Amino acid sequence: MTDQNRFLLSEKDIPKAWYNIQADLPGPLPPVIHPGTKQPIGPDDLAPLFPMGLILQEVSQDQYVEIPEPVREIYRLWRPTPLVRARRLEKELDTPAHIYYKNEGVSPVGSHKPNTAVASAFFNKEAGTKAMTTETGAGQWGSALAMGCHFFGIDCEVYMVKISYEQKPYRRVMMQTYGAQVTPSPSQKTNAGRQALQKDPANPGSLGLAISEAVEVAATSGGVKKYGLGSVLNHVLMHQTVIGQESMKQFELAGEGPDIMIGCIGGGSSFSGFVLPFVREELKNGHGIRFIAVEPTAAPSLTKGKYLYDFGDMAGSTPLIKMYTLGHSFIPAPIHAGGLRYHGMAPIVCYLYDTKVIEAVAVPQNPVFEAAVQFANTEGIFPAPEPAHAIRVAIDEALKCKKSGEKKVIAFNLCGHGHFDMGAYDAYLQGQLEDYEYPEAAVMEAMKEIPAL
Ligand SMILES: *Cc1c(COP(=O)(O)O)cnc(C)c1O
Repeated sequence: MTDQNRFLLSEKDIPKAWYNIQADLPGPLPPVIHPGTKQPIGPDDLAPLFPMGLILQEVSQDQYVEIPEPVREIYRLWRPTPLVRARRLEKELDTPAHIYYKNEGVSPVGSHKPNTAVASAFFNKEAGTKAMTTETGAGQWGSALAMGCHFFGIDCEVYMVKISYEQKPYRRVMMQTYGAQVTPSPSQKTNAGRQALQKDPANPGSLGLAISEAVEVAATSGGVKKYGLGSVLNHVLMHQTVIGQESMKQFELAGEGPDIMIGCIGGGSSFSGFVLPFVREELKNGHGIRFIAVEPTAAPSLTKGKYLYDFGDMAGSTPLIKMYTLGHSFIPAPIHAGGLRYHGMAPIVCYLYDTKVIEAVAVPQNPVFEAAVQFANTEGIFPAPEPAHAIRVAIDEALKCKKSGEKKVIAFNLCGHGHFDMGAYDAYLQGQLEDYEYPEAAVMEAMKEIPAL
């Protein structure tokens, strides 16, 4: 069929293994460093926070890691997700390019996050974990882990960035409906929270600070509680590769493959899940696919950050990770793409950017919402503000094709729907959105607080 829109797979096509790019990188990832000893950390250093199953995945050099059947069984609630040709958008842009999107917004909580949340809860259940702690910004990750924990009978404690807690009450209700306990961060429950509140009782919170609280609660629980992280870590990116593996099969059905693959990056997990199986082919055969990671100009980790060792959280309680960072003291501007307001980036994404396998671009939020509205008005779907960053760049690339007459295949990851983001759409429609450009000088200033190695 030449006029096909949706390229669908059946349940038996859900991948049986996660793809681990560590096996195929030309060199090893830089080691993660213990901030006290300044030596590379080992599995035992992570044991207070994560179950051994996940720690072993974090450092695994196996090319594939089998997906346990109980996890695949839950994936079957929404996977495989559709790959869709955006024909109405193409027509509107009057471009010869073909535009495709992979729709991860069809998951129960509305984003790609359950791909790893379910896996994380499963390996914790296997290890006997009774409760998990985590942070959430806009609420996508908190909702996903709350669901995963509920399915496996684990208690879930979520520290939600205070400004989101107040602005997005429906995400909180969703988490509570799945049985999670939700606390606005900074809170009085932890040292990190109390310290922040002492300095500024009106502190609106940040992802870095909420991570500090969730980590502290798990680390001081005497092994009863473990911590769950929804992005950045190697094993999280690996869990997300079900997205790209399915996409690869779906492009076979479409009879063409992508020339350009685009995704937004907050911590880098949805982008990675989408592109890494294609990066593998690229490293092997070099087809010349361009991989473009899109970040907000308000939190430009790759395009303005420095590639060095920094903490993953604000209080400095995590190990030191080599990544492009804006500095762990980074306080983001209140852009609506809550999932993209993080100071650091996944080490795997940073490695691929540093070695020029992938590209990065930063875009401000008004053009992003313009793209979101254009997408809603052609394809009918409201994208979350985060993937709208990818849509902006996909449209820009399609318009370049219009000029040059090139018939490129452009694919982006629609990693979440925007049904909980109507406040952001409203602000855009009323002309109330501000564009923020994070200043170079602030990056230099924050570098002073980064520990010397
Ligand atoms: C969490 C989230 C992001 C940002 O995290 P990544 O790890 O970069 O994917 C982006 N989009 C949506 C919809 C999210 O829920």
